[in-house]
Amino acid sequence: MPAKYFICSDGRSILIKDCLTSCQMKQRCMFLPTLRAVAKSLDRGLSEPTVTELIAGTREIYLKKTVDYAVNPQDVLYALHGSALHTINENHTEGNMLTEIRLKDDITSGKFDLYGEILDQDTGVLGDIKVTSSYKIMKALGKYKVNVPTSEVYKTGLKKGEPKYKKEWRDDGVKGIIDWAIQLNYYRILLEQQGLAVNKIVIQAMCRDNSLRIANERGIDQAIYLISVNRISNRWIIRYMQHKATALQQALHSGNMPSICTAKERWHNRKCLDYCQVSEHCSYGKKLKNNAIKLLKVVS
Ligand code: SF4
Ligand code: SF4
Repeated sequence: MPAKYFICSDGRSILIKDCLTSCQMKQRCMFLPTLRAVAKSLDRGLSEPTVTELIAGTREIYLKKTVDYAVNPQDVLYALHGSALHTINENHTEGNMLTEIRLKDDITSGKFDLYGEILDQDTGVLGDIKVTSSYKIMKALGKYKVNVPTSEVYKTGLKKGEPKYKKEWRDDGVKGIIDWAIQLNYYRILLEQQGLAVNKIVIQAMCRDNSLRIANERGIDQAIYLISVNRISNRWIIRYMQHKATALQQALHSGNMPSICTAKERWHNRKCLDYCQVSEHCSYGKKLKNNAIKLLKVVS
């Protein structure tokens, strides 16, 4: 079930369909066509869970499919950035390439962005377009900073005589792209099931904050990065997705709330606190938020 309500800037909720008919405030919080596009991006009209849904925590998907939840249109605009970029690419796919086709198997379905001769002479490149933060790109590239000694020493102060260090970037860290890798490897499997060979998987990640100082501090100074994704064994991927699909089906069938999302799925609580659209319906998310509010009161 997609989101049913919008949250207005004054905190009140409104049925999305009522908001699109008439705003309950003096003035709309954004242009009507933008709101319509946001509403459309929230409802893809798919009842069966998709690859991207199954990658999320089972409790989160279960709640999204069973409760009427509310979203602030300001918080979900990021989905429009992605679709806008997809549309731009989709209109320029003349030649030896396929785009935006939903493929399905017994477990789930997935829509790849681009496939074909999109990068070099290789006709078997699976490409995925992401619009994301400099933080996520820094993690995906495996970038990290190290202290490198300089030839200088401190001449005064508490550290007098100690060597001075400077920070330098390294690009050989662990690539934090497991979710993207699972998603794209599943698309690869779906393409291969159609007899289409996938020789390379590449993400084109566009940084949405690349002109800001924070991006620079994270070592991100380009608007677009190409990130290669390794093959993961079909056996592992299929078992993982089958497990997630079965857990969801069983929960939906029995009506029993699944266990809380794993630490990885809930981004070590960051998602529960700030990004999960159904946290108001999850006991764990509510508890975390209440604790955070209590802590803020103590501090202030
Ligand atoms: S346009 Fe914005 S402020 Fe107006 S009803 Fe819709 S969500 Fe609320
Ligand atoms: S609040 Fe956290 S644990 Fe609950 S559904 Fe959302 S991500 Fe999962």
